[in-house]
Formats: sequence, C-alpha cells, structure tokens
Amino acid sequence: MTDIERLRHSASHVLATAILKIWPEAQFAAGPPVENGFYYDVDLPHRISPDDFEKIEAEMKKEIKANHPFERMEVSRDEALELGKKGRLAALSERDQPSKYKIDIIENIPADEKISLYRSGDFVDLCAGPHVMRTGNIGAFKLTNVASAYYKGDEKNPQLQRIYGTAFKTKKELDDYFAMLEQAKKRDHRKLGKELEIYVIDDDVGPGLPMWLPRGGAIIDELEKLARETEFAAGYQRVRTPHIARKKLYEKSGHLPYYADSMFPEMVVLEDKERQRHDEISAEFERIRTSEPPGALGKMLSLLQEQISLGEPYHLKAMNCPHHHKLFAAVPRSYRDLPLRLAEYGTCYRYEQSGELFGLMRVRSMQMNDAHIYCTPEQFEAEFNAVNEMYLKYFKLFGIDKYLMRFSTHDPSKLGQKFVDEPELWKKTEEMTRRVLKDSGINYVEVPNEAAFYGPKIDVQAWSAIGREFSIATNQVDFAQPRRFDLRYKDRDNIDKIPLCIHRAPLGTHERFIGFLIEHYAGNFPLWLSPEQVRILTIGDDPKLIDYARSILRELRAHQVRAEIDESSDKINGKIQRAEQMKVHTMFVIGKRDMDANAVSVRVHGKGNLGPKPRSEVIADILQSIKERRA
Ligand SMILES: [Zn+2]
Ligand SMILES: [Zn+2]
Repeated sequence: MTDIERLRHSASHVLATAILKIWPEAQFAAGPPVENGFYYDVDLPHRISPDDFEKIEAEMKKEIKANHPFERMEVSRDEALELGKKGRLAALSERDQPSKYKIDIIENIPADEKISLYRSGDFVDLCAGPHVMRTGNIGAFKLTNVASAYYKGDEKNPQLQRIYGTAFKTKKELDDYFAMLEQAKKRDHRKLGKELEIYVIDDDVGPGLPMWLPRGGAIIDELEKLARETEFAAGYQRVRTPHIARKKLYEKSGHLPYYADSMFPEMVVLEDKERQRHDEISAEFERIRTSEPPGALGKMLSLLQEQISLGEPYHLKAMNCPHHHKLFAAVPRSYRDLPLRLAEYGTCYRYEQSGELFGLMRVRSMQMNDAHIYCTPEQFEAEFNAVNEMYLKYFKLFGIDKYLMRFSTHDPSKLGQKFVDEPELWKKTEEMTRRVLKDSGINYVEVPNEAAFYGPKIDVQAWSAIGREFSIATNQVDFAQPRRFDLRYKDRDNIDKIPLCIHRAPLGTHERFIGFLIEHYAGNFPLWLSPEQVRILTIGDDPKLIDYARSILRELRAHQVRAEIDESSDKINGKIQRAEQMKVHTMFVIGKRDMDANAVSVRVHGKGNLGPKPRSEVIADILQSIKERRA
C-alpha cells in the first residue's frame, strides 16, 4: 500500500466506527482503498442515502479529533472466531448478532497466514493493515457516494451498501481534488469524444467495442508513427500476429484456465473433414430417429456426443505475449541475437463485465503498444533502463509532469503459492529493477506482495493537466513464460539457456491513452496530434479566390498535413465559429488582399488572430512544428 492508500484505508475504519455509533447493528464486510478513495461495504436495514452523510461525517470528525492510535493485535484463528461469534469484529462492543461476514473472511484465510485485529478507540476490526499511526493523521475526508454491491461480487450473496469516500493529508488537497473533478466533467473524454467526432460505440457492433472515426484514426496514426520511430531508434523490430489462436496456446501460456473469465468464450472451428463428418452424423441421426424403434436412443446419444467433440476450440487473443513467444521460438536463437525486441500495436479482446465498461477507459477491444524484450540476465538492467528512458521521453513530449511508477515485488514467504518458486531470480531481478529506478531518479514507490505470479511488475500512473489520475501502462519482468514455452538461446559456451522476458507498453492501449489525452488536452491537441491541423476559410466565393485557397490545400496535403477547406458561401464569422467548435488547430483565413500578397491570415485555436503572413513562411513553420512534435 502507498502512503495515501494507507491513509484512505484507515479512513474506512473511521467510517465504520461512525456508522456503528449511529446504527450499532451494522455488519461490515470489506473496506479497502480504491482509486481516488476508499469504501466500506455495510449490511444495514436502514438504507443509507447522501442525506445521511452529514450525520456520519460529524461522527467521523469526532473520531479523528479523539486521535485514537491504531493498535495491532495478533490472535489465533480460534480467538478470532470467538470474537466474531460474539459480534465483536467490526464493532464497538460485543453484540447479539455474530459478525457474520468477518467470520466468513476468517474461514477463508489460508491456514499458514497470521490473523490480525486492529483497534482504534472502541472499534475493533479484523484487518491485515497497514494503517496510519493515529486517527488524527487523517487530515481531511469526505463521503462521496453510496451504491449497492453483492458480497464478494457474487449475486448469489446478500446485497450490501457500499459507502464511498475519499481522504487526503490536508484540507487543501481535498479541495483541489473536488475542483479538479469539476474541471474533469467538462473534459470528460466521452463528451469530447462525441463532440469532436473521435470515436463511437454502436449498439449493433457491441458494448465496449469502440470504433474510431477519421479524426480518431488520425490521432492513432500519429501515435503509431511516434511509437514506430521511437522503437526503431531503440532497436525494436516490428511483427504482426493474428487476432485469434487455438485454445491450446493459452493453455501452454498458463493464461487458461486462470484467465478464462477475462477472455471471450471459445469458438469451435471445424476443418473440412470434420465438417463432412458433422453432416454425416446429422444425416445418420435423422435416419435413426425417423426409421428405427425408440431402442436406438443409445446410438443417437453416442452420435450426438461425437458431433459435439468435433472441431478445435479457438479464442480471441486476450494478450500478445504467447504469439510473440512463438515468434521467438520460430528461429534458432543465439546470444548474438539478444536482446531481441519484438514490437506490435497488437489488438486484444478482453471480456469485461458490462457494468465495468466505461467510455474508452474500460473496453472489450484494445490496441496495445506492446513489445516483448528477450534478453540474458546480464542484459536485463540496461534493457530495463532503456524502457524507463522511453517512458520519460514520452512523458516530456506529452507534458505529463506528474507520474508515479508503482513497483510491485514478491513476498518470499509465498514462493510456490502466490509467486513462482524462483527465489534467486526474484531477488536478482527485483534488485536490478530497484537499482535502475533509484539511479534514474524516477518517481516510484515499492509495494510488497503485489507482484504478478511470474515476476515483479511496474504499473505506471500519470496525472493529466488538471490532476486527474490515470493508470496508463504496465511493465512486467517474466521468468515463467519463457520456461513454459521452452524458449532457448545458445549461449557463448554453446549451452541452451532460457531468456528473461520484459513485457512493456509505455503508451498503454490506444483506447486508454487517447481517452487520457483528450482529457489532458481538453481536446486542444498540439498541432502534430491534431485530427484537423489546418482549415482554410475563404472570405466570399470569388472563383479566383477559391482557386488560390485550393492551391494552398494541395500544397499542405502534398506535405502530409491534415488540411480541409471551407469554401461555402457562409459568412466568415460562421466559418470561424464552426472551426473553433471542432478545435481545429490552425485556420487560414483568406481574402482578396491575402491572395494578392500571396499570403494567408493565420488564426490559431485558443490564441485568436495572428495576422497576415507570407504563405511560404507559414507553411514552413507548420511543417517544422509537426516535425518537431511541438507542444
Ligand atoms: Zn484496516
Ligand atoms: Zn506480454
């Protein structure tokens, strides 16, 4: 847990305390920190509404003012259960009703794991921690929302009330956060994405499957060009892989069965011979059904069984790694080929529950700025450092001043269970990763016990221009998959060795990254990224003037500038207004005087009229700005 998560989670204990002061019968389930805040799930006959928040917040303030220490107590399983039976968990005192959710949670704690309780004031809760030192460390908080949620997310379980809040170290940070939310509403990528004709989600195509209109397509082209150039210079090679694969590929990678819930269901494909057999079975089935006595049921069932077993299951690709591993394995590799950096803007499909879908942020199809770097352990540090430098370069380019790398490491006591049993590799790669992060002065936090199964990982969070937080990318070190795929290279001593693999995606997915950029720039993209870079607006419709304007359009397009022309007979103010509405970056306003001087009058969105300038000078400047990807 990061410091702010620790503070917010502590606030959830205070929230539960306050609710119990008002409704002593309340039963609590889980109360974790979440992005931007915390919640606590409560089972209570009274339906809590935002009208209750003031009352609850007043009780919370008292608890914070009392400045109770958070005291940790380790107990045995039996002691914990005994307290649960007396209703003493997530409670202020013993009660008539047992703490049923806490008892269920205790029963699901693995036998070898310690059980801890935390006390703050009268409130005692079952919790692994950690917390802040005292309730008074929670500087400022606010309850934000109440929703319903099934216990453990399973609709067969009771429905609980989920009370959301947020907390910060200081009142100022809290105020800034709510001011930012106001701004964020105006910049919402779903709103701007529609107004600026960037993307659309169509019900006939399906939920969570965004389609990019030409303006979105233009942004994608620029991002891919950026990635292609940057990766080429860094020694990456581009590959292409299909969108589907046989199920057995994902069994080999280990994604199935663990990842099955996040994948689209399998589809069974019949090859020619199987299709033929399928039709034969149907015909035979029909013959038996219509001609023989009912005693042939057994035969019919066995035919059906055979028919069902025909064919080969396939899945839509949920991640690019297995395909890339196959490309590594396709050619004999030696240490001279390493590091091998395979890159692809790969399209992946993931099954997200419909309730989880959200604009471009949570989708079911995504194009990922993916690459897999295969290297020797000796090369790892330099490779990982280069990946980080690429991140920093991108952050600078997009004006991302605030970011955080969240470095998740393993817990040695859980080797072989939660983490692949390679103590040496864990130690070595974590040490190297930590060293690179430290030496490069990157802003990072280390979070123990949250690594991926097969290696340490780094999640990258970035804050937009108005301070809204986005998770944009993940890097992973992987020493399990290369083994599962039996990837090898011949080392100097001619012995087969297994490479390490780094998964990296600095620009995340187009969906999430463009969603971020829309809000970051409030739709006012820099020239190089602007879907419509230049619009030419003619004053009047004199044929000579139109010819002049069209010659400029041709010149711009010949230089790959995304330019359009508005030669309608509308008044110039109307034309300007339309272009401003679409946040076109630069407008060339052209009247007779401009034409006679071989000039254009330049207007830049957000900056207004910059006056007439020679045509060649303006165009040269635009080309230079695009080339340099100026902010
Ligand atoms: Zn806790
Ligand atoms: Zn991967």
